[in-house]
Amino acid sequence: MNKQSVQDAKPNKGAKSKKAKGNQTKATKNVLIVGVGGQGVIMISKVLALLCQTQGYQVKQSEVHGMAKRGGGVFSHVRFGEEVWSPTIPMGEADILIALEWAEGLRWLPFLKPDTGIFIADTQQIVPPFACLNRKVGAQTAYATETPKEILSKVADGYALDAGGFAEELGNARAANTILLGALSASLDFENEDWLKIIAKFVPKGSKEINERAFKKGSDWIKKVRANPEEMLLDAPQPVIPVMPEGDVEISLDIIEEWCKSCDICVRLCPERCLEFNELQIVRLKDADACTGCRLCEWLCPDFAITVNRTPVSDNKESA
Ligand code: SF4
Ligand code: SF4
Repeated sequence: MNKQSVQDAKPNKGAKSKKAKGNQTKATKNVLIVGVGGQGVIMISKVLALLCQTQGYQVKQSEVHGMAKRGGGVFSHVRFGEEVWSPTIPMGEADILIALEWAEGLRWLPFLKPDTGIFIADTQQIVPPFACLNRKVGAQTAYATETPKEILSKVADGYALDAGGFAEELGNARAANTILLGALSASLDFENEDWLKIIAKFVPKGSKEINERAFKKGSDWIKKVRANPEEMLLDAPQPVIPVMPEGDVEISLDIIEEWCKSCDICVRLCPERCLEFNELQIVRLKDADACTGCRLCEWLCPDFAITVNRTPVSDNKESA
């Protein structure tokens, strides 16, 4: 069942003196953040809402996280300004749309202001189970096929980036949402040090430094592509439609036990029911013969704990 919550925050006491940042103080700003469960949509919206509040704005935030623990869609509306009445952003009224997952971003595009809206999307793909109905080897998924180039030509101001890839380069794949916060910061009139103070409240102790670097990476990246738009598509690879390999494949699973949080997603959603928990509630493959290598468990695991290897048998013979 979907869960919706609405928060109405008044400016922090004494915060009025900190504001007065151009037009941002006058009109209500609408920021829509979308993605799937486990990606950090709520973290981004809470950081933004608290930052706006500490800067003296009235803030309204509403969020829906239905299948959040099952790889389902999650979205959050953040509205801030001198006086904000409604917690939700009407269709076509979002000033900024931040997408943590590519297809979710496309789904919410009608909410963006057609003439001035800013679209910032991670090109990461999390393929939902319904897009994988045909699970046979060689089958294609029904995932969105639009490329960044096609989409960015249709929005007023668009940016597609491989935030997950950037985060991995920095050494922590989970810092992708902070990279997106950095990218968002370039479109809002707040000081970087204020962003970083708030971000530090929402990230695990010990990851402050990497999140600071992630924030800078996102902020620097968007400034760079604004100055040289032709560089953007180099940084934003086209989404690849995941395709099952044809012919005989040898399938194996790598499971990083330390990263498994026992959330049960992969166990419940494996179409072949070939996963189970061990005595420590860590996932393991119980029936290797039944596994088709569909990669659903890999795509859905919010903690990146599973990698599915699908090696064509011919490759194995060559290397033998
Ligand atoms: S591997 Fe662990 S953390 Fe990942 S989906 Fe399965 S149960 Fe959840
Ligand atoms: S274990 Fe993973 S790859 Fe194998 S059938 Fe289940 S979901 Fe697909």
